[in-house]
Amino acid sequence: MSLVSALEHAVKKPVFGCQMCGQCVLHSTGMTCPMTCPKTLRNGPCGGVRENGHCEVKPEMRCVWVNAVTRSATLPMLPRRWRDEIDDVRAPVDNRLKGTSSWRNLITGRDKATPVGWPDDGHG
Ligand code: SF4
Repeated sequence: MSLVSALEHAVKKPVFGCQMCGQCVLHSTGMTCPMTCPKTLRNGPCGGVRENGHCEVKPEMRCVWVNAVTRSATLPMLPRRWRDEIDDVRAPVDNRLKGTSSWRNLITGRDKATPVGWPDDGHG
């Protein structure tokens, strides 16, 4: 793990439960890390959310996506355009980036590279 990755992990893990996927979308999910969903879903909840809003896999925790949708609508410090990104369709996570710094990947644009066939994948 690089120094930048270690720093990023040290900052984000205690606050957001950051899993260092290398493609951070916290700002568009109400500062809720979708990688903490047991199914690592990136685009909203599975069909198993319990009536009380808790997770079907880990009943002791609230569904990550219930939190994400609620927070994206209510967190006052989030700019409007970030709150609206909750509706974006996110590409599948690229597991080759696991453990790398999403800060660095943001600067280089690597975090925007999408699989072949995905819209805006740059493959025509
Ligand atoms: S209930 Fe929510 S947190 Fe649990 S697996 Fe489904 S989407 Fe993920």
